[in-house]
Amino acid sequence: MEFSSRARQRHARLAGDRREQYPHSLQFYLEPPTESISLVEFESFAIDRLRLLKVIENLGVSYVRSSDVYKVKLETELRKLKFPYRALAEDDYEARRKDHISHFILRLAYCQSEDLRRWFLQQEMDLFRYRFNELTESLMQKFLEHVNLSFEALTARSLPSIQSDERLKPLLNHLSHSYVGPDYSIQKNTGKISLEQIDALSVKSFPLCMRQLHRALRDSHHLRHGGRMQYGLFLKGIGLTLEQALEFWKKEFIRGKVDADKFDKGYAYSIRHSYGKEGKRTDYTPYSCMKIIMSNPPSQGDYHGCPFRHSDPELLKQKLQSYKIPPSGIAQVLELVKGMHYQLACQKYFELTHDVDDIGFSLNHPNQYFTESQKLLSGGREPKKEFNNSGNFQQKNNSQESINSSSTSTSSSAKADTELEGLEAYFTED
Ligand code: SF4
Repeated sequence: MEFSSRARQRHARLAGDRREQYPHSLQFYLEPPTESISLVEFESFAIDRLRLLKVIENLGVSYVRSSDVYKVKLETELRKLKFPYRALAEDDYEARRKDHISHFILRLAYCQSEDLRRWFLQQEMDLFRYRFNELTESLMQKFLEHVNLSFEALTARSLPSIQSDERLKPLLNHLSHSYVGPDYSIQKNTGKISLEQIDALSVKSFPLCMRQLHRALRDSHHLRHGGRMQYGLFLKGIGLTLEQALEFWKKEFIRGKVDADKFDKGYAYSIRHSYGKEGKRTDYTPYSCMKIIMSNPPSQGDYHGCPFRHSDPELLKQKLQSYKIPPSGIAQVLELVKGMHYQLACQKYFELTHDVDDIGFSLNHPNQYFTESQKLLSGGREPKKEFNNSGNFQQKNNSQESINSSSTSTSSSAKADTELEGLEAYFTED
């Protein structure tokens, strides 16, 4: 008892000391965080801040930043995620601590490339501007005096030492690609889509990346391995069974240069592998937008990637014109692309092709796009079961966890990428 009471006193003393680090809710910190935190807290702080910045990006293109609706929505999000929501308000030590630590973690994750850096700075600037403008004039003065506004250049210099930490390196690398949406490893629509529906669905409900891959496959009867990975896992996510996937790819490939024997010996194995029926029996999950946008850019002859990120703007414009998108809509999409808001450009494409004013969700995943489209087109219901292919229903018979079983977990993402490297080895043929 004595020990625990002493420990409590010591803890209180330490917490008291740290409280002095955060005299204001609004921060412009000069010192990086120095306390020890668990990896779990490290990860959850980072994910929450990433969620917050995604909301800020969305609000920034939907509302005037000084408008009441912008402020109300941002304050709601700050409260929900337990960040300081009103500058220089009451004693909110835990929120201030989370604000400080999470900002520093994302600085580390997002200083690794110019693209990431710019995106991060833009969202943080918007957040800071909002918080600063909420201050009264005297509090602004007090804050400016406190921070003294002198600073040292870029976090990137800290990277070499931090990247040598084997625990943090994968977390940081994957944070900037990490996905904070729902988990599409649960294939509740398995067996509900017929192969005959795919052409029509690709026009109505596929995001542009998958529509482009489907068209390329139909035209050339082949896709290189980056395309097969991205499109094959997407199709699995919308509900294709293993037998359907084998039939779909085989039918198309044997119309090109691959004969049935070669398909069965090479490609069929890799498809079964992606369904967890071969090798490590990992049930692979579809790629998120962040993964598609940030990794493995397409080269000549490839059709994978995100068209909003990887297509030449002029080609993108022509493609949108051929899909009968009105000129004003194309201009809006291209403006978002110019500002590097690729997922928002995709959301705009959804609105234009579904004739809705507000998409009503924050897009993070091609399979989310498909699900939302189907819900909308069927009046809020899940895709209708069109046929009963009872023999085709796939059970997950592997003992391993699905690779993205926690979609918000960067450690899961790290594990996913390691395992995908194993899978990609089976897709070596072009
Ligand atoms: Fe596909 Fe996502 Fe790009 Fe849309 S934003 S085209 S869903 S990768």
